[in-house]
Amino acid sequence: MPGSTINEKADDKSMTGNGKKSTRKQVSKDLVIEKGLHFLREAGAEHICSVCIENGGSCCSGCRHLLDGMGCQRRNTSCTAWLCGFLKFVLYEMELLQDWDAFWNQIPGQSYREDFTPETITIRKDLVIRNFQIISKALASDLQELEKTQIAIGFIISLREKINKHIDRLGYYKNDPLKKAKTKENIRILSTPFYRFHKACAEYRLQHQKQAAQLIHERLTSGTSSVREL
Ligand code: SF4
Ligand code: SF4
Repeated sequence: MPGSTINEKADDKSMTGNGKKSTRKQVSKDLVIEKGLHFLREAGAEHICSVCIENGGSCCSGCRHLLDGMGCQRRNTSCTAWLCGFLKFVLYEMELLQDWDAFWNQIPGQSYREDFTPETITIRKDLVIRNFQIISKALASDLQELEKTQIAIGFIISLREKINKHIDRLGYYKNDPLKKAKTKENIRILSTPFYRFHKACAEYRLQHQKQAAQLIHERLTSGTSSVREL
C-alpha cells in the first residue's frame, strides 16, 4: 500500500473452527490505520462526510486533537474503526459491515478518540478494499437534497442517528428472526428517500453480476479449449 511502512509477515497457520486454515499476520498499528483509511477512501466516505460536516454533523466536533484547517492530529485505531449511521448504512447495504467489524474486532486498545493499541498486532482477517465511491456519492446527493427540502432543522443528522440505532439492533437481535426482520424493514423504510443511492446500488450489483457471469463464461470456455487441445 502506498505511503505505509509495512511490517507485515505471515507468522503462523492454524486451524479455525470450520477446519479451514487461517493465516496469522503481524502488522504495525500504522498499517492497520492506513488500511482502514484506504478502505474508507475507496468507499467514498469523504463525499458523505462533506455533506454531514456542512450541516453541523461532524463527529470530530469539539475534539482537542482537531486543528483548524489541519485536520486530525492524532489519528488512532478507535476513530478509524468507528462508523456513524451513514457509513454503517453504506457498508450494511454493500454487505461489508460484518467484514469491517471482524477486522476491527481483532485490534485491541480502542478507546474514545484515542487508542492504547500496541505498535505491532497479530491479525487473522484482512480487509478487502473495494471501490464503490459512486454509491457514496449518490447517497451524499440524496442527503444534500433532503437537507434542502425538509423543513425540520438537522433532518439528516437525526436520520443518521435513527439508522445507526436500527443497524446496531440487528446485532442484538441476531438470534431473533422476527425482530431482526422487523428491524431490517425499519432500515428499509428509513432509507426510502435515498433514491439515487438505491439506484446506484442496483446498477453496481448488476454490473458485478455481469462481470462474474463473464468470468465464469471465460473460465468454462478456456477449460473447454484446453480439453480440446489434449
Ligand atoms: S458523522 Fe459520519 S458522515 Fe459525519 S463527519 Fe463523521 S464519519 Fe463523516
Ligand atoms: S481524534 Fe478522532 S475525533 Fe478527534 S479529530 Fe481525530 S478523528 Fe476526529
